[in-house]
Amino acid sequence: MLRRAAFTLIELLVVVALIALLISILLPSLRQAREAAKTTVCLSNQHQITIAAIAYTVESRDWFNPIQDVHRVGNRNVEGTWRVYLWRYAPSPAVYDCPSEGSERYADGVSQYDRQQAGLPAAAVDPLTYGFLHRFEMYNASGQGANLAHYWAQAEGDGPFGRPTESGYPEGLTRAGTNVRFPARLILFGDGHGDAEEDWPEDRWWIFSWTPGLPKGGPGYDRVFQGDAGAVRHRRRSNYSFYDGSARTMDASDIPCTPEECWWSVQFYVHQAHAG
Ligand SMILES: [Zn+2]
Repeated sequence: MLRRAAFTLIELLVVVALIALLISILLPSLRQAREAAKTTVCLSNQHQITIAAIAYTVESRDWFNPIQDVHRVGNRNVEGTWRVYLWRYAPSPAVYDCPSEGSERYADGVSQYDRQQAGLPAAAVDPLTYGFLHRFEMYNASGQGANLAHYWAQAEGDGPFGRPTESGYPEGLTRAGTNVRFPARLILFGDGHGDAEEDWPEDRWWIFSWTPGLPKGGPGYDRVFQGDAGAVRHRRRSNYSFYDGSARTMDASDIPCTPEECWWSVQFYVHQAHAG
């Protein structure tokens, strides 16, 4: 007795073609869904560190946290970052990163790469030392960047980088509170790194300036003017968070920074507030 083949060749080819068609339809949408999920996780992370930064100002008589700072530990000067100050309000390594971050993730701890970039000797063990001062804190990169420019001080001559004067850095801190006239227009954090030293070319974020051609790496340095495409991670957009606690995904070119309005700097609003 003859058995009919389960599938004829034609049927098999049709099935194969259909599967190929389905894959070609589903894969891009899956990729888009994954990217949308990454954007959302990033936004949520950024929201948490933004709330942490606001909590810090509330408990610090309205002063913003330092971005970088130097402390004397034993007989050594140790440099720390803003993360040390925010850790008690956001004690989870993951929130200091973006899921689209490539290799320099805070949650990975201090890597050999970080040591190498810092010109430090390789270590046998990579201790996971989150949220407190230690020798390599400064060099453990984050996927989220604190906006240096907004730490522009209250008065001219005191700015701009949010470093306590007594630490040995020449710059002062910025006071938040009522000095920030438009909290919803002051960026606190963004996707990517500041990269004045060109360690992370693939992850630079965009900073627009009202004055083209400022010294490289300085306040208001205009990466677009300098021809630097910057980090725009989430399908050519980045996440940004603001002093009012909001966070959203934006096209960097939609963020104003002109003499009339600059979301990167508190300076203009401070002067406005003093004038008024
Ligand atoms: Zn991101």
